[in-house]
Amino acid sequence: MKFDTKVVHSTLHNRSIKSKTTPIYQTSAFSFSSLEELEGFYEGKSPYLYTRSGNPNTDELGDMVAALEGAPAGVAAASGMGAILAGILAVAESGDHIIAAEDIYGGTYHLLNEELKTFGIKVSFADFSDHEEIVRNITPETKLLYSESITNPFLRLEDIKGMVSIAKRHGLRTMIDNTFATPYLMNPYNDGVDIVAHSATKYIGGHSDVTAGVTVGPDELMAKARNKVINLGMNLSPHEAWLTVRGCKTLSLRMKQQCDNAEKLAEALDGYEGVKTVYYPKKASEKGSGAIVTIELEEHNDIHRFFTGLSWVKIVPTLAGVETTVSYPQGTSHRALTDEAREKIGVNPQVVRISVGIEDAEDIIKAFKDAVDSSK
Ligand SMILES: *Cc1c(COP(=O)(O)O)cnc(C)c1O
Repeated sequence: MKFDTKVVHSTLHNRSIKSKTTPIYQTSAFSFSSLEELEGFYEGKSPYLYTRSGNPNTDELGDMVAALEGAPAGVAAASGMGAILAGILAVAESGDHIIAAEDIYGGTYHLLNEELKTFGIKVSFADFSDHEEIVRNITPETKLLYSESITNPFLRLEDIKGMVSIAKRHGLRTMIDNTFATPYLMNPYNDGVDIVAHSATKYIGGHSDVTAGVTVGPDELMAKARNKVINLGMNLSPHEAWLTVRGCKTLSLRMKQQCDNAEKLAEALDGYEGVKTVYYPKKASEKGSGAIVTIELEEHNDIHRFFTGLSWVKIVPTLAGVETTVSYPQGTSHRALTDEAREKIGVNPQVVRISVGIEDAEDIIKAFKDAVDSSK
């Protein structure tokens, strides 16, 4: 071989090396040494052809979350939004109708309220704490009930079993976004939910260094979701999948510490002078109630001084990392809503959402008490 040939072919490529962790298959396609071998791909003998249609790292992530949720199959996507869209399109098509909870994540609200129209799918929003209201919205076209296990920012616990029983009675499918609860706290698939989706950008990844999503469910629905990911170009990159799998291995340790810290913080701020209300679910599961605490300051406490008074806690418009962070729903996640819509769900200028991290609980509590004090 001449130099110009060697420079592209002298790689580790074909040696079998048993690494402890899964290597990153940072490749856009897979190679074949004969036409028979290539034909083997179409006969299901070898799993990989082209990374957009499948890659060991993205499959590893899909399989991992499916295993944690107790579901037969899982598909990774480039973001939580991609995973949610793939899941929805696995059960709904043009002409169909979906009923969604009105207090879902802002990005999902936009996807359902705006983008799904272009797919010919109609969506109604209902107060899911009122089962009569869900039932009133069912039409002959309705295919799916959509909600979240723990909602944002007021942490309402969805009555998942109740939702599944309505769906069963009316021949509908159900889908739950389990991002806030994570499979550590809740497994909606085991309660009869058909599709469970995650923004793996949050607790599954856990380190705020990737954008990723996963949707899990039965083989038949996941085969459809996988086709949507492939054909709409929503595939996750192998490197991002690898980072997400690495992050997910410590999910239990992180969630345990974060839930413990959140419970302590919610307790410490409840009744603290300057804090009007603390939102934190009670016993969302045996293992804890999640790591998000939402607070509303008293009207006379200055919200600007509160945020500048948070010494080491940063304002970050996401959640679930190992660091404690705060976000401002009115200014970010719920910015696009009208004043009336915000008022209806209770988001006002004094509301702060706290994503509790793995630090020492005493330091976290002190940081928030100091900030509340400095807002007086
Ligand atoms: C962040 C989030 C999403 C969207 O996920 P991306 O990874 O940002 O696309 C969906 N649902 C919930 C509950 C989220 O917190």
